Amino acid sequence: MDKIVCGVYARDSTDKQGDTVENQISQSKEFINRLGPEFVVDENCIFVDNAVSGYYTSVFDREAMKLAIELAKEKKFQVLVFKEVARVGRDKQENPAIVGMFEQYGIRVIAINDNYDSLNKDNITFGILSVLAEQESRKTSVRVSTGKKEKARRGQWNTTAPIGYVLNKVTKTLDIDPETRGIIEDVFDLYVNSDVGTFLIAQQLNNRGKRTNNGNLFSRETVKKILVNPVYIGHTVYGKKRNELERKYDDSGKMTKKKITIKIDKGDWLTIENTHEPIINKETFYSVQEKISDRGHHRTPRRAYHPLTGILYCKKCGEGMVCQKRSTKDKEYRYYICKTYHKYGRDACSQANVNADKLEPSIVQIVQNRLLRLSSTEIESSSNRSDDIKRLEEEISRRSKEKDRIKKDQVDIFQQRELFSEEAYKEQMLDLKSRSVAINEEISILENKLSAVKESENRSANIVQLTEKFLNLDISNIGMVRTLLHELIETITISEEDVDIKYRYDII
Ligand SMILES: [Zn+2]
Repeated sequence: MDKIVCGVYARDSTDKQGDTVENQISQSKEFINRLGPEFVVDENCIFVDNAVSGYYTSVFDREAMKLAIELAKEKKFQVLVFKEVARVGRDKQENPAIVGMFEQYGIRVIAINDNYDSLNKDNITFGILSVLAEQESRKTSVRVSTGKKEKARRGQWNTTAPIGYVLNKVTKTLDIDPETRGIIEDVFDLYVNSDVGTFLIAQQLNNRGKRTNNGNLFSRETVKKILVNPVYIGHTVYGKKRNELERKYDDSGKMTKKKITIKIDKGDWLTIENTHEPIINKETFYSVQEKISDRGHHRTPRRAYHPLTGILYCKKCGEGMVCQKRSTKDKEYRYYICKTYHKYGRDACSQANVNADKLEPSIVQIVQNRLLRLSSTEIESSSNRSDDIKRLEEEISRRSKEKDRIKKDQVDIFQQRELFSEEAYKEQMLDLKSRSVAINEEISILENKLSAVKESENRSANIVQLTEKFLNLDISNIGMVRTLLHELIETITISEEDVDIKYRYDII
């Protein structure tokens, strides 16, 4: 078993309520013992600050703290236990700094009386402190982004201009770049009017000596990015990314904030229309979007494989069956052959070869009959789940509001903690905490339910679509036959006598 090395930090206290250093250490050690046999205390990592006079010096200037930080950096221990971190720092601001300092070096911090453990961030005292810290940082980030939003509303561009445009240095808006607008027009034109994909478009541009704004060759990805960017119909999309502050502590406990960039979900982007002159008309742009999503969804294989390869199995030996072509002078035959037989011969499996041109239409027939028998009410009842979805969404939002209220209560009590006795304060906080834990649990159960209902609705909607396509299937379109059969069927098992079809959807 790998040992987990633990350290203890204790501080001699000036007030009478405080525990002796010896007590702090022995209680911490006892706590570590209870964590499990793999947790061991290293006597070199017992840090004791005796600096009674040090109330006016920062905790980070104390010798034992300096040593602890040094050894944390050198990974001499993995867990640091405080009996009560709140008594270590000079003031409330220092306590989260102490914790943050060690955590940034990958140390798990446990503060027994504060009910704090880095592994479980859902805690009382520090939870509140970090709530306050988060609120502050969110405020700054909101302030920054409203400023940017304002700029975006005025059509002002925040970053470098995309290819096809140049940044007007005076108005900070986009002007069409006569040098590169042709590239954009060509990309859209080729994609809409000829059956050329993004790869070939990139190749054509490169062959004509065109390069991206950074001087690079065009790739499939850069072309795709152009095709989906609404900037080319005159819109500015704001909020694809958001900046947030990340806190870091230096050796003196001083906190610095670093900007980090977070990607935002597409649904939360903000589009401001008609902020500059478009290069592409909307009709073209939207038909491109349709074409792109079509290609993405039912990607028909480049080669029309044999429709049943991959889902057809031999009932005698359980192996898959593959298709082979045989030609005579005037005709070409296709056969499905058991892989075992194909590899090892007739002795290994006696499954007879099956004529593909007879088997495929009969499978299609069987599936069509099955789909026709499937009553339309059966599908509809399982597809119309919008009431359930609405109800679940309402319940989730009600609980989220309650959760916000509890958070607010916690902050209120924390801010007025001087008004309570320590006992009453802890009791109230514990009560709020357990309520918040319960609500979190309820929310996650509801969210699971919601996604299950949505999933089932999707599947039903899918079946309706598939059924429609299947009943109008042109059997000579081998690619389409293959796609639809693979969408609907998990496995087909055959022998000379019978065919078993296992569908991928329960309700079929
Ligand atoms: Zn076989």
